[in-house]
Amino acid sequence: MGVKSAFLGLLLAAGMIPAATAKPAAKPAHHPVLMISIDGLRPGDVIEADKRGLKIPALRALLAEGTHAAGVVGVLPTLTFPSHTTLITGVDPAHHGVLNNVTFDPTAINQDGWYWYASDIKVPTLWDAARAKGLTTGNVHWPVSVGAKIGWNLPQIWRTGHPDDAKLVAALSTPGLLPELEAKEGPYAPGKDEDLPADQTRGRFAARLIAAHHPDFLTVYLTALDHTQHETGPDSAQSHAVLESIDAIVGNLVAAERKAHPDAVIALVSDHGFAAVDNAFNLSRALIDAGLIRLSTPDQLGRQKIESWDAVAWASGGSVAVVLARPDDAALKAKVRELLVGLKADPANRIIDMLEGDAIAKAGGNPQAGFYLNLAPPMLATGYVAPGLPLRFVPPTKGMHGFFPADPRMRSTFMIAGPGVPKGRDLGEIDMRAIAPTLARIMGARLDQAEAPAITF
Ligand SMILES: [Zn+2]
Repeated sequence: MGVKSAFLGLLLAAGMIPAATAKPAAKPAHHPVLMISIDGLRPGDVIEADKRGLKIPALRALLAEGTHAAGVVGVLPTLTFPSHTTLITGVDPAHHGVLNNVTFDPTAINQDGWYWYASDIKVPTLWDAARAKGLTTGNVHWPVSVGAKIGWNLPQIWRTGHPDDAKLVAALSTPGLLPELEAKEGPYAPGKDEDLPADQTRGRFAARLIAAHHPDFLTVYLTALDHTQHETGPDSAQSHAVLESIDAIVGNLVAAERKAHPDAVIALVSDHGFAAVDNAFNLSRALIDAGLIRLSTPDQLGRQKIESWDAVAWASGGSVAVVLARPDDAALKAKVRELLVGLKADPANRIIDMLEGDAIAKAGGNPQAGFYLNLAPPMLATGYVAPGLPLRFVPPTKGMHGFFPADPRMRSTFMIAGPGVPKGRDLGEIDMRAIAPTLARIMGARLDQAEAPAITF
């Protein structure tokens, strides 16, 4: 039951409105929403589950009961944190401010810091919009949620993988929430853990949160499919097995939500697709060789860091941004352009797109980037500063995303089911920026900044 109708019920029960004069209950204009993200879920894994030999009854039930997209066209870059922030705001990375997974840190002083903090998001989120409408909100592990104004928040953060990370998660969660849930469910999953047991733990905590607090809007983020696809490739037996286990988590969450809110709408999303990879292009090698990056003298262990730079690589999976130290320096820009054009001319590097300046902004990508390169799978992009690492090398990774969103392999998933949502409808391809305003509208909330119109049912 929504907040509005609950309030009306309260007034009726308190005798403040004579029941006889109350109008017959109008169809509620809004519904509670449960939004589940399965990182890296390709739409075909659900739509073509039989063909791919996948046993995923809960996901197939959502597909059959509701409306779905044949594919969701993502953002630049098709990376986890920028994409999840688009899913929750309805705008491009250039406008929401989460430009990559990792923050810009050319001299490596931030100890692999990611964009964990909601204060980096420059526009209102669905959590904000729901709260402004008087709805209650919750979150389990959604990216970029530390410090977000969420009623029951278990944000995503880690530092080193040391047991102290658990204290950090506890300190940044809604006070009292983690002890309350751990008393029933045992220890919570460490922030750095991305495997199936971590998803199963977070799934149990989310179901417990739903049963205990009934948030009107809850986000839940599951990460093991992405993790396994990176390690073993998008179509591996291991990835299929993990998705089949995640399906059981989804089934439990949907059941818990429908028990708490029989009128709930369930949205199942993902952030990007996946492509198989077997090679890596290391732009930092070329920038070092061209004298655009200068390394420190090796320390006693032979390690070197960037000491000074004119142009650095800020890699984003299958693509890489190039940041210029002096964006207005025409001679520097020309020198870097010449280097990149030369690299692109060698087919072995598999650079298929090169954006510059305004073209990056127009694509909704990183405003700090002077240039942005997109690679063709099976090549991925890196910006490692490791002495002796060549321009191309064989990475341990078997699957990647982060390529420009035009690559059809990067399509992500959108399925939605519940009251008012047509059964069995195929929307074709949709824009990722349409998802947040659609969910806002279902909740009776507003996200005025959204850059694509809400989907109407
Ligand atoms: Zn992801």
